[in-house]
Amino acid sequence: MTFSALSRLECPKCGLTHDPDQVIGLCPCGSPLLARYDVPAVKLTKDELAARPPDLWRYHELLPVRAPENVVTLGEGMTPLLPLPRYGREIGVDRLLMKDEGLIPTGTFKARGAAVGVSRAYEVGVRRIAMPTNGNAGSAWAAYAARAGLEALVAMPVAAPEICRREVKVVGARLHLVDGLIGDAAAYVREQEGYFDVSTLKEPYRIEGKKTMGLEIAEQLGWRLPDVIVYPTGGGVGIIGIWKALLELRELGWIDGPLPRLVAVQSTGCAPIVQAYEQGLPESEPWPDAQTVAFGITVPRALGDFLVLRAIADTGGTAVAVGDETILAEQRRLAELEGAFVCPEGAATFAAARRLRESGWIHAGDQVVALNTGLGLKYPQTVPL
Ligand SMILES: *Cc1c(COP(=O)(O)O)cnc(C)c1O
Ligand SMILES: [Zn+2]
Repeated sequence: MTFSALSRLECPKCGLTHDPDQVIGLCPCGSPLLARYDVPAVKLTKDELAARPPDLWRYHELLPVRAPENVVTLGEGMTPLLPLPRYGREIGVDRLLMKDEGLIPTGTFKARGAAVGVSRAYEVGVRRIAMPTNGNAGSAWAAYAARAGLEALVAMPVAAPEICRREVKVVGARLHLVDGLIGDAAAYVREQEGYFDVSTLKEPYRIEGKKTMGLEIAEQLGWRLPDVIVYPTGGGVGIIGIWKALLELRELGWIDGPLPRLVAVQSTGCAPIVQAYEQGLPESEPWPDAQTVAFGITVPRALGDFLVLRAIADTGGTAVAVGDETILAEQRRLAELEGAFVCPEGAATFAAARRLRESGWIHAGDQVVALNTGLGLKYPQTVPL
């Protein structure tokens, strides 16, 4: 068996397939591309997998990097899946679990996408990368680029968390600040020549790294899936990735039965996907004046919105918007009851879980996994002194 079972890139919009072993961004039709694998050729057993090191590269057959020597790693993956008994009891969800992505290099799950994205970019010959970011993706990609010896240019809003600027600087990447939102940073990146644009879903492999959250949840639960997975959704890569991972595991024959209902959580200050879901639309409209304390989910229009909406529809999930005050109150409450200082994006998933339990959408006996996508320590100003 080869290291990776990657077979082709497929367009989820027009259906065209593309050779994956080239430098390629979007499909010519403008859609993101998805990596496809020769899943039946994967001969891995669950026992063999269980004996591998506890990082995301344990799933290398279902990752796109072809040669082990091209793997760029800082030890990312296999984050804890923690029961939250006291908080769970308070909100009426006794079987509540937190997948804690705070315990990962650079402090957010963005490291997963960066590890796989940078490794694969390096493998196909890319040496200079550029990206717009709300902060955390920039920190992660700059760090992995440094580790790989790639040159990196990161453009971010001045309002992005200050720590992310420092993280980009310390690893020697070029930092460009824009007085605006992520869309303005993206416009700057488009003007730069000689860089490979690794914006969210503009290259096909970040999502492959993020999908390992779904693979890990399944493995950590002994290949029995939870009833609900709640995810803070910005660009949507994480939720699409988890859905993709579960479909691949089903194809592999390692899971069966219905998939978990996937819940996309946004802030009421920027909720284009929730709005599209509520209106029954297949794509979202750009959100005007986007603003929320949950900076990582301030994405007024996601390139992969149609895929997020498909993931929700396919799994019988839903989309929920919660306000900033609720997010901050929930962040505090979770810390008081469980000792976990989560990021505001993560806190949004807990606010949503509470709300969905109150409305009866989540049942008392449901096993619910909420994603904390990052470390509260990266947002110290969310706690007033
Ligand atoms: C980027 C980010 C998100 C949103 O991620 P997507 O997968 O792009 O939807 C959520 N939380 C944090 C902390 C982030 O940095
Ligand atoms: Zn296409």
